[in-house]
Order: sequence, then structure tokens, then C-alpha cells
Amino acid sequence: MSQWPIGVFMSVDEGLGVHLDVVQELGIPTVHLHAPSLDKRNEAGAKDWLEKSQAAGIEATVVFSGFAGETYESIQRTAETVGLVPEALRDQRAAEYRSVSDFAKLIGCPIVALHIGFVPERNSDSYKNLIEVTQSLLDYVKNNGQNLHLETGQESADHLLEFIADVDRDNLFINFDPANMILYGTGDPIEALKKVGHLVRSIHCKDAIWAPEGVRGTEWGAEVPLGEGDVGMETYLRTLKELGYDGPLTIEREIAHDRERQKADIGKAVSLLTDLRSQIL
Ligand code: MG
Repeated sequence: MSQWPIGVFMSVDEGLGVHLDVVQELGIPTVHLHAPSLDKRNEAGAKDWLEKSQAAGIEATVVFSGFAGETYESIQRTAETVGLVPEALRDQRAAEYRSVSDFAKLIGCPIVALHIGFVPERNSDSYKNLIEVTQSLLDYVKNNGQNLHLETGQESADHLLEFIADVDRDNLFINFDPANMILYGTGDPIEALKKVGHLVRSIHCKDAIWAPEGVRGTEWGAEVPLGEGDVGMETYLRTLKELGYDGPLTIEREIAHDRERQKADIGKAVSLLTDLRSQIL
């Protein structure tokens, strides 16, 4: 794979990603694939994906998944519902996530990823249990020959590093999403990237503007088309280059309610990234 191939977040059925026809139309060679629904995480589902993606010349570089019952309607509701953090659902979701790892193995993808949720305060009982559940999941993922990438944004760079160190497994890395740091109000994305950069193995190209100062961290910032927000795409890419990152530049535009605009915005993002790439590399 050449350095910094363009990518896009796509969905087979569930999730906010674009569908395969749009990826093809935009000529994008790599995707972060939102895993298909549970009933399709099997050999038939994998065969279906492999046939279609190979015919289109598209490679899945990471398989993502969320869980039923998650909502991102507010930061508070996200904290309550997302990932492996909600205690009542933790074991069930960790078990369910194994099907994502199995599906990724069937399609030959060595990386799986997720939003783990708002990691609790260090040394709480909830935190200690989350460490154990995550370790067990990582061992399963490793047995499938895979690494697991945590999506950034729901905690500060320092807390994420603390958590990863406490989990203490050699197949745990980071999918860096600069816009999430802004959306959740968890810190300057470029400073955060410099702190966690040694663990960043995949990235999202997404942009956002900060919520007003007084409500930052309690109310959402706003996701905007790439290049129109507060991330600073050129600085972002230059920082990635300094860190030696050479993987895909995977665009996310999370407006699945407006598919036409989503496609148009992603098309513009491809142009922007292609221009910046030729300037920077
Ligand atoms: Mg993301």
C-alpha cells in the first residue's frame, strides 16, 4: 500500500458510514468497515463482503463496531450508553464484540476497533473491572491474530495513556480522531496527538468546531465538513508525518441522515486530503 492512501468510514448495513457504491463512485481505495449486523457476522457475510470489495478494488483496513442500545444524543447519554463502560452490559457486550473479531478474521483484516466508552476514574472498582474485561477481550483478539484500536475522544490523552498502560497488553493501540477531542471537549487535538502518537496505528480525518467555552465538555461541539473546523487539517497531517504515521487517511462524515450532502462533503474531503498529501509528502 502506498503511503497515506485515502480511506472512508463505510457501513455494510448498520452505522453512520457511506455504502459501498459511494466508496466506489468516489474512487476511494481503503475503508474502515463498520461490521455488519450480528446475523451477518458469519462465513456467508464475510464471503459477500470479500466478493463485493474485491470486485470494487477496495480494502478494509480496520473493522469497527458499536453496540445495540448506544446513543450519542448528548455527551451525558453517550457516557451512560456507549461501549464497554456501562456496567450492566459490560460482559454481554465484550462477548458480542468477539463476533466482530471473528468476522474481521474471516475477511482477513488484522485490526478491530471500538469506542470503549468514558473510562471511569482510575482505581474505582468499575475501572478495575473494565481493565479485566478489556484484557480478556484483547487476549481473544490476539488469538485471532489481531490488534485492537481504541477510538479517541471520550477521555483526555493522559487518561487514555493511563488506561492503556494499566491494561498492559501488546496488541492495544489507538485510532486517533482529532474531531472527537473537540466534540467532547477533551483537549486540543494536536497536543493530544503528540502525547499519544507512539500508539497511533490508524486515524480518522474528521473536523469539528468547539462548543462555547462555558459548556465545553458538557455540550457537544459541532461536526463540520473537513477543513472547515478547528482541527487544522494541514497541521494535523504534518504532525502525523512527524510521528512517522504512514497508514490510510480515513475520512468520516457522520451525517447519515443526509446521504447526498454526506457524499458531496466526502468528495470535497478527498480533494483536500489529496492536495495536502502532495504538498506534505
Ligand atoms: Mg472517528
